[in-house]
Amino acid sequence: MKLSKRKVIWGLLFILLILAAIAYAARVPIGKALFERALNSAIDSNPIADLPDGLHVGICGSGSPMPDPTRAGPCTMIRAGKQTFIVDIGGGAARRLGEMRVQTGGIRAIFLTHFHSDHIDGLGELMLMRWTGGNAAPIPVYGGEGVETVVEGFNAAYAHDEEYRVAHHGADIMMPSGRGGTAMPINFAEGIASGVVYNKDGVVVTAFRVPHDPVSPALGYRFEYGGRSVVISGDTSKSDAVAKACNGCDILVHEALNKEMVGVMQAAFEERGNKQLAKIMSDIPGYHTSPVEAAQVAKQGKAKMLVLTHIVPQLPTPLLKPYFLDGVSDAYGGTVKIAKDGEIYQIPAKDGAQ
Ligand SMILES: [Zn+2]
Ligand SMILES: [Zn+2]
Repeated sequence: MKLSKRKVIWGLLFILLILAAIAYAARVPIGKALFERALNSAIDSNPIADLPDGLHVGICGSGSPMPDPTRAGPCTMIRAGKQTFIVDIGGGAARRLGEMRVQTGGIRAIFLTHFHSDHIDGLGELMLMRWTGGNAAPIPVYGGEGVETVVEGFNAAYAHDEEYRVAHHGADIMMPSGRGGTAMPINFAEGIASGVVYNKDGVVVTAFRVPHDPVSPALGYRFEYGGRSVVISGDTSKSDAVAKACNGCDILVHEALNKEMVGVMQAAFEERGNKQLAKIMSDIPGYHTSPVEAAQVAKQGKAKMLVLTHIVPQLPTPLLKPYFLDGVSDAYGGTVKIAKDGEIYQIPAKDGAQ
């Protein structure tokens, strides 16, 4: 018997319809099975702990104060051996750490480069997450002069929430002694521009002053572990201090603001009579570094790799990247990356180094 083409098509459509009806009827058990599977794999996975011994850089926020759905506020995670540190914690970055499966309860310390709002927006949230991770002592928060005010302010703002959580879950689960942060002020003596601020279990962190006027103090940080080094510029205008701190570093994480693009924004605001935003756009290039300047610093500092972060302006399409990076490859021959939230750059420890 030979079936007509039309009958075959109708037959197939009927089968598809039956399958769709079965899937629809089973949509709740299907959702339940998917949820349980995803939950178990998320709980069991610990990608940060599984990283090889080394000094690794995670991007928990590559953005700036400008709204960008793909970039949380400034945040860099450093995984050095078994220790995890966070440098700056902008808006949305604490949640980004969650997406990256970083065990926030295990974070050893937070380092703030300076107190512009975009670098501290997420501090309360991260301190809370770290406490929820079962800590009996507050998290140390390093920063320049004034860090006490910032940490005390967040501690005060979260005080009510912390009371509720102790009341909800009990003091043995949410230990009152572990809530909030402890300010660890970095005060350099007059004329001193850098110094070691952390030295434990093979990890050495050096803070150094950078120019970000009128913000003072503004700091960058150099992390060393296992014969490797990573330098984070913080917010700065083009600075020899960053190149000096890098001095052959494996990764230089440098802020980048394309001054030409910001100039285009300034003109657009001027055209529309928005003096407020036009003035802000004319001011910011003076205390930030362009991608080409960051590349020059990377060359001067003999960085093995340059990762641009704190991206200004937003780059909503990859088509804008060549314009953003215009001139960078002429200034620096090494690898240059535009940081992307969630990425981890891995640097294995050198053999024999610790
Ligand atoms: Zn900033
Ligand atoms: Zn800043």
